[in-house]
Amino acid sequence: MDYRGFEGVIGLEVHAHLLTESKLFCGCSTKFGAEPNSHTCPTCMGLPGALPVLNKKVVDFAIRLGLALNCTINRRSIFARKNYYYPDLPKGYQISQYEEPICENGYLDIYINEEKKRIRIKRIHMEEDAGKLVHEDTIETSTYSLVDYNRSSVPLLEIVSEPDIRTPEEAVEYLKMLRDCLIYLEICDGNMEEGSFRCDANVSVRKIGDTEFGTRTELKNLNSFKYIEKSLDYEIKRQIELIKKGGEVVQETRLYNVDEGVTYSMRGKEEAHDYRYFPEPDLLPLIIDDKWIEDIRKGLPELPFEKIERFLKEYNLPRYDVEILVSDRSLASYFEDTVMLFPEPKTVSNWIMTELLRELKARNLEAKDAPISPANLAELLTLIKDGTISIKIGKEIFPELCSTGASPKRLVQDKGLIQISDESAIAQTIEQILARFPKEVAEFKAGKDKLLGFFVGQVMKETKGKANPKLLNELLLKRLKA
Ligand code: ADP
Ligand code: MG
Ligand code: ZN
Repeated sequence: MDYRGFEGVIGLEVHAHLLTESKLFCGCSTKFGAEPNSHTCPTCMGLPGALPVLNKKVVDFAIRLGLALNCTINRRSIFARKNYYYPDLPKGYQISQYEEPICENGYLDIYINEEKKRIRIKRIHMEEDAGKLVHEDTIETSTYSLVDYNRSSVPLLEIVSEPDIRTPEEAVEYLKMLRDCLIYLEICDGNMEEGSFRCDANVSVRKIGDTEFGTRTELKNLNSFKYIEKSLDYEIKRQIELIKKGGEVVQETRLYNVDEGVTYSMRGKEEAHDYRYFPEPDLLPLIIDDKWIEDIRKGLPELPFEKIERFLKEYNLPRYDVEILVSDRSLASYFEDTVMLFPEPKTVSNWIMTELLRELKARNLEAKDAPISPANLAELLTLIKDGTISIKIGKEIFPELCSTGASPKRLVQDKGLIQISDESAIAQTIEQILARFPKEVAEFKAGKDKLLGFFVGQVMKETKGKANPKLLNELLLKRLKA
């Protein structure tokens, strides 16, 4: 991205819905899509006198993420009330953390063109989500709205980065890696459409070389990587144009309009909420001891950035391949299971990234439900390697192997697809073809080397693709040059 003498400065605030069974301060279910207001109780409805009780699982998850992102886990943290009025917030305040959050000062490394870049994490804190307003009609014609409190008090982690991100591309890389970490840690499903993983972006620009930050705007509720990248790019350019024309960026919240591809002011600084944070008097400070942290540390899985480093070393694959494989934990396991049976990592990776991913997409399946087992893929690759079938045939039967689940060996036998590696059989077909195309033979002998491919194609057609290509090439050349 070239912003001609300027650079963007971006800090991201990510909200991740946690995969707990129950809510942050009560026992109500967090399940998505239930009958409106069926997952509610006096606490999450904000009724007077109802008291919050902290869900321990949420603390476990926050520590898990904090450790994965190299944060300090504060032995003492406190909850705070963030006060504002909105109908989806029945208490009139949201319980969050402000001063003394649970995790601080971590980092996440990303790679841009093979180069490492460290993005510092300022803080991670726990908070409750608000309910949801349902506008039955279009807003203009409706005289009322409905409110659903099922989501009220569903637990979230907010992950706040330092303003270390410089381009929309870096922002997307950071978000993808962060999302992968959450999924690997099994604390969030990462579903962006359902809003389980959403992001607010703070954006400013400055002249390259300046050390001070410019005034920032905030883009709210971005929930697809594509639009995050587009809206950041738009916003950076908008601010640069403004400054070049002698204007000033004003601190405000803006919304991205997907259809028009532009950002609009939603509210300015004057209308900004004054949250009047204060410590939550109904909850004790949260004290975490070393044992709690160490127990969680022991249970951490291999994280995506660790798996990437291991794959690079162990399998000697390009980073491009590794990032695709590791982006999905099941795909990474699929790869490793196949390599165990067919120890040629690059070949396996190529087949996964082209043939397998294509079949998954066509069948709308995820890697964990792959329609061909690692054992069958390894068997297929072995058949190709030992010359039983050609690569071409292998690719041709791949979809059928996926839809039937058949053993590759069996299918190849049943369909008579075994490669012809018998010299005399191939030589015989070559003679037939050369006799059929005397004009082309003459042209080849007169120097038109390109025709070799034509003859190969004709023999392949005649043998239904079963001639061993290496052998065919050798024999054909020998015969023509004779
Ligand atoms: P506040 O307390 O007003 O919410 P924070 O200091 O917590 O502000 O920052 C919120 C987010 O804004 C963080 O992600 C931070 O990195 C980012 N940020 C802060 N200053 C800037 C800036 N000048 N340009 C871009 N992002 C910024
Ligand atoms: Mg903030
Ligand atoms: Zn409840």
